[in-house]
Amino acid sequence: MAAERDEPGRNAEREPLISVRDLVVGFGDRLVLNGLNLDIMRGEILGFIGPSGSGKSVLTRTVLGLTPKQSGSITTFGVDLDEASRADRRAVERRWGVLFQQGALFSSLSVLQNVQVPMREYLKLSDGLMDELAMLKLEMVGLKPDVGEKSPSELSGGMIKRVALARALALDPDIVFLDEPTSGLDPIGAQDFDELISTLQKTLGLTVFMVTHDLGSLYSVCDRIAALGDGKILKAGTIDEMLESDDPWLKSYFHGKRA
Ligand code: ADP
Ligand code: MG
Repeated sequence: MAAERDEPGRNAEREPLISVRDLVVGFGDRLVLNGLNLDIMRGEILGFIGPSGSGKSVLTRTVLGLTPKQSGSITTFGVDLDEASRADRRAVERRWGVLFQQGALFSSLSVLQNVQVPMREYLKLSDGLMDELAMLKLEMVGLKPDVGEKSPSELSGGMIKRVALARALALDPDIVFLDEPTSGLDPIGAQDFDELISTLQKTLGLTVFMVTHDLGSLYSVCDRIAALGDGKILKAGTIDEMLESDDPWLKSYFHGKRA
């Protein structure tokens, strides 16, 4: 409708970038996701929680098309990847960035080369231009230019996460998927990383899907939280709405842990 188009800001915020409907994913006869529905809205930082082994990484990988689904549909930027041509698929894939849970850097490549991996896959640029672009990405995540020449083995855990984030940002994505990005970091390192995510969301208008167990992240940077349980979304809402839930798992999660 024309009237809606006149308010791009308001409506853009409500637009789902990714819609998951009735998703079923299993391994053998064990269903991990069993009728899951979820919308990831443009511009939000969505925190995704759930017990260990509940399927958070499986959902992430299924949305990315890396794990096959039994049934259900996933619409990404308005495209159902099951029905998309190879070219359309690639066009969608270059609009997302990923930091996997086991998202190690390639140890045989320098930091700069690691950041350039997606650029080599999707862009046709000269080496010089790619160096400049990768430097810019490093700067964006708060790393100094001299880090570019280093080997990943020379970096601290926090720096490795930042380089992995720079790589996820390599193609100026609309959305980044972060699977437990602050796990293994000390509280200060985790807080710094959260602040970076928050800044990137505000300055780049980035949408962020973040699997996390970090209560600090959930309280301070997530606009909305979705909890996974029994293969479905148990509850989704703001932190205040989650805190009010009567669900026993959510209660013990938010009130039982250090708060
Ligand atoms: P988490 O919520 O901790 O990220 P995962 O999504 O990694 O949990 O795993 C959910 C369940 O699916 C676990 O029981 C795991 O063992 C199982 N699983 C994940 N990937 C595979 C696979 N490739 N083959 C068989 N089982 C898998
Ligand atoms: Mg996981």
